[in-house]
Amino acid sequence: MPDMVSSIREKYQFTLDQIASAARKSGRAPEGIRLVVVTKSQPLEIVQAAIEAGVRILGENYPEEGVTKIQSLPPQSGVEWHMIGHVQSRKARLVAEHFELLHSLDSLKLARRLDRFAAERNRALPVLLEFNVGGEESKAGWDASNDSRWDAFLPEVESILKLPSLRVRGLMTMPPLGTDPEDSRRFFLRLRLLRDRLASTFPQADWRELSMGTSADYTVAVEEGATLVRVGTAIVGARRLKSEVEAL
Ligand SMILES: *Cc1c(COP(=O)(O)O)cnc(C)c1O
Repeated sequence: MPDMVSSIREKYQFTLDQIASAARKSGRAPEGIRLVVVTKSQPLEIVQAAIEAGVRILGENYPEEGVTKIQSLPPQSGVEWHMIGHVQSRKARLVAEHFELLHSLDSLKLARRLDRFAAERNRALPVLLEFNVGGEESKAGWDASNDSRWDAFLPEVESILKLPSLRVRGLMTMPPLGTDPEDSRRFFLRLRLLRDRLASTFPQADWRELSMGTSADYTVAVEEGATLVRVGTAIVGARRLKSEVEAL
């Protein structure tokens, strides 16, 4: 356990340093970027070690797995939980009740359900809209792979902005997996340009957040304007198979 904590602490600090230098390089303040440590498919022991190592924001992909972890920790653990994976409509309640920010809102249908459950809980749920900037079939999010598609989702965005218990805070993307971090740059730029356009179309909303960049390309994402980066394996190591997790 102490070894795990110090190993995570070292990698977490290294990642924060890389973020800070990428920020300075592009004339940004490092404080404007938050590091989400992704613990999906990692056992509770890793989550506990990450918290002990100083991690403050944790990201999960699967609502049930995330909620199990949240409920296994003391209620005042001082960490913030973000949902970063695709959420099925029937899991909307779990997300509306347990997470501080949903990065991956990808349909009006899900938005309506989240709004309803958040209202029942008397809370407002902050969300980011997920866009598919690479146009891959396998990826979630509204298709923003070419400019001619941009107008197609505007009516849905407008409807989401009107939902009283959701708070749109910006955009998120997961670009196609490249072989080089630089391969992601044009996709990150694309998300930023889309954000600027939505901000001018809907100035009533807050579009400040850009969630982009993973272990493979987070420094490029920071150079292109990321305010949230989602880093898993570079900090907490390879994801475990279920059987390995159970054996721990
Ligand atoms: C798993 C995942 C990450 C983290 O990926 P790593 O390669 O482990 O850094 C980031 N974002 C999303 C949406 C993910 O599913």
